[in-house]
Amino acid sequence: MLIDSHCHLNYKGLVEDQAEVLGRARESGVRGFLNISTREREWADIVATAEREPDVWASIGIHPHEADAHADLGEGALLAAAAHPRVIGIGETGLDYYYDHSDRQVQQDLFRVHIRVARQTGLPLIVHTRDAEDDTTRIIEDEMGKGAFPALIHCFTASAPFAARMLELGLSISLSGIVTFKNAKNLQAIAASVPEDRLLVETDAPFLAPVPHRGKTCEPAFVADTCAFVASLRGTPCETLADTTGANFFRLFGKATL
Ligand SMILES: [Zn+2]
Ligand SMILES: [Zn+2]
Repeated sequence: MLIDSHCHLNYKGLVEDQAEVLGRARESGVRGFLNISTREREWADIVATAEREPDVWASIGIHPHEADAHADLGEGALLAAAAHPRVIGIGETGLDYYYDHSDRQVQQDLFRVHIRVARQTGLPLIVHTRDAEDDTTRIIEDEMGKGAFPALIHCFTASAPFAARMLELGLSISLSGIVTFKNAKNLQAIAASVPEDRLLVETDAPFLAPVPHRGKTCEPAFVADTCAFVASLRGTPCETLADTTGANFFRLFGKATL
C-alpha cells in the first residue's frame, strides 16, 4: 500500500501530462496521492483533480513562500475550502527562513491560522520547515498547549533533536527523495530510527527526484525508490515498509478513503 503523501500534481512539469504521470505511478504500485496546495488560486484546480481521480486527495493551504501574498487570509477561507469531501489535510504551511520569500512574522501568523484550522477540523497539518527549527518548535509547542491537533513534518531535513521533539509532541515525519542523496548521512540516521508508526514517504514532486532519477523531473512513481531505500536503511522488506507507511497515512489522514 504505497502512498505518495505529498506531491504537486498541478505544478508545471507534471500538470501538462498529469494522466500519464498518474498512470506511471500506478504501474509502479502507488495506490494514493495527496496533491498539495501552496496558493489560494490553485485550490479549485487541486480539488478538481481530486474529484476526477479516485486515488488523489487534496490539501488546502498556503506555502510559507506565499505568506506575504496571503497575509489577510483568515480562518474562514480555509475552513470553507476544507469542508469539501476530497480535502483531507491543511497545508502546506510553516516557516522557511532559508529562502525568506515572505516576511518572517507574516509566515508565523499564517502558520498559526493554519494550526487553528487543523485543530477545528481535525484534519492534519502539513508542516514545511527550513532553517527555522527554533520558531517551528516554539509555535507548535505553544499551540499544542492550547489544544492538540494532528500534524506531520513533510520533506524532513532538520536535525535529530528536532525530530525527537516533534515525535514527543505527537507529530509524524515524512521522508522525501532527499534521504537517498549521498551526503544525507544525518537524515539517513534519523530515517532508520523514526518509530515505525510515525513514518510516511513522499516525493514532493516535481522537486527532489530520488536516486537513481536525479536530474529528472520528479514524479510520484519515484516514491517507490525512496520507500525501497528507507526500507534497506531500516532492514525491512520493501513491501512491509510500503504497507506500514501506507497504514500510517490512512490513520493520520482519517478522511482519506479509497
Ligand atoms: Zn514543502
Ligand atoms: Zn511541497
